[in-house]
Amino acid sequence: MDGLMMDFPLTLPTILRRAATIFADREIVSRLPGRSLHRYTYADMAARARRLAAALTALGLRPGDRVGTFCWNHHQHLEAYFGIPLFGGVLHTLNLRLHPDEVAAIVAHAEDRAILVDAVLLPIFEQIRPRIDVEHVIVIGDGPPPDGAIAYEALLAGADPAAFSEPNLDEHQAAAMCYSSGTTGRAKGVLYSHRAVVLHSLVSATADVVGLREADAVMPVVPMFHVNAWGLPFTGTLVGAKQVLPGPFLDPASLVDLIERERVTVTAGVPTVWLGVLQYLDQRPGAHDVASLSRMIVGGQAAPEGMIRAFRERHGIDVVHAWGMTEMTPLGTITYVPSSRRAAPDEEQYRYRAKQGRPIPLVEIRARGAEGLVPWDGATMGELEVRGPAVARAYYRDPEGDAQFTADGWFRTGDIVTIDPLGYIAVTDRTKDVIKSGGEWISSIALENALMAHPAVAEAAVIAAPHPKWLERPVAVVVLKPGQQATAEELRAHLAPQFARWWLPDAFLFVDEIPRTSTGKFLKAALRERYRDVILAAETAEQGHAGAVEAGEAGQG
Ligand code: AMP
Repeated sequence: MDGLMMDFPLTLPTILRRAATIFADREIVSRLPGRSLHRYTYADMAARARRLAAALTALGLRPGDRVGTFCWNHHQHLEAYFGIPLFGGVLHTLNLRLHPDEVAAIVAHAEDRAILVDAVLLPIFEQIRPRIDVEHVIVIGDGPPPDGAIAYEALLAGADPAAFSEPNLDEHQAAAMCYSSGTTGRAKGVLYSHRAVVLHSLVSATADVVGLREADAVMPVVPMFHVNAWGLPFTGTLVGAKQVLPGPFLDPASLVDLIERERVTVTAGVPTVWLGVLQYLDQRPGAHDVASLSRMIVGGQAAPEGMIRAFRERHGIDVVHAWGMTEMTPLGTITYVPSSRRAAPDEEQYRYRAKQGRPIPLVEIRARGAEGLVPWDGATMGELEVRGPAVARAYYRDPEGDAQFTADGWFRTGDIVTIDPLGYIAVTDRTKDVIKSGGEWISSIALENALMAHPAVAEAAVIAAPHPKWLERPVAVVVLKPGQQATAEELRAHLAPQFARWWLPDAFLFVDEIPRTSTGKFLKAALRERYRDVILAAETAEQGHAGAVEAGEAGQG
């Protein structure tokens, strides 16, 4: 027997309409490229999102068309987050830290018809533009747009929202898309439905997930080009929280300044950003008032326990460790100390805080070892599999990706975990051949293939070496052909034109052979173990990534 409830679709325009009316006066603050702060309200944002939808429709875009964004975190990007799905379009956020060749390949694969670009990112975008075939380039920012491009503000000013009629959206229609290179190294498209984003936002807002409320001021430091900034722009709008968007300035001083000025209560980002902020605060005892900040959601890479402790003990800030994936919209698990252990000794509480946590509502988990599903004993390791209404069921036009999905409908994450009796996961390793440096993927396979194309190289394996700041950095283990010579500098110069600067290995170790599995694959775990001391001792090369993230100029590498 069917229930007798309305068949009311779960779509983003519903969230936008509510924010525009119920939270009309709540603020959205962005740091502009000139460093000044721009302020307006949800009512303003919603009106401009509607103008954007009208303007894109007038340009000939239709429901289902992909519209790329190549932008930092700011209010116009938020307008795109809602304005593009409003006409049935698909918001396709592009990662501006990728090599221009890769961005071009992603735009081509997604068949983006239009792209919104920040004026400050035009120097990078100009390297991509000749390689892609998009009909409309729309530039956000001051100054006249380059030839053939449209100025965003002029586009909005010329729009006729009265002539725009919202299509009736089905909740299963795509609202957004994001490519991830986190499984095999080759980017794969994840296509989020309206329903998935709405359910993810509702779940995120619950108290034991992000716990976002109207009274909060949320600052997503995680870029809006990374899995929808962990969904926070959507969740923030759903609950009417004040949003604080840091623009291109992700250095500790700028972030702490925003926290202080705007009384930020919740923020989120990868551990590398917070390690920098911690150091900054530690060096200036009492100089900054960050007391407004109650929670810092940290994920994308394992949050070091020392960092979690330091923020809590020295600055009174709760670091909430979360795990997720692009394929999961992205939150999967989050950790809070269970109520039954709140009186336990600190040591035990920190063990819970350092784990990746329990599955959020509507996410189911299990882990599979060589012998089948592993027991939830907190010790047996297995590959984590997940399912839920905000988990991908396939990649966009990529049958190769089907191997990531089980026959009974679960997604194989590639993360090796233990699950304890209370359902807390701890990520112990990964099966994926990728390295995560400062929250960004580096494909070891791509580096290995490029190295093995060098005439002196017989074999090369690229492994993740632990690093205090980036948590992981690539190190190349190289076997030279008999009688051939090559130096680390030569190999680095060979790779440099093909990859972003921060992808280049920090060290090259020359060895006689690389251990292999019975099926002939490089035994990366054995390599990591065998060369651990050598790697730690190896001189750390200059890191393009370092400068890039700190100066907020990532992608220049
Ligand atoms: P992405 O799709 O780029 O968000 O990357 C997702 C992957 O990042 C996961 O499959 C993990 O390998 C890794 N990851 C994300 N969060 C964490 C975390 N808290 N601890 C350890 N690894 C993480």
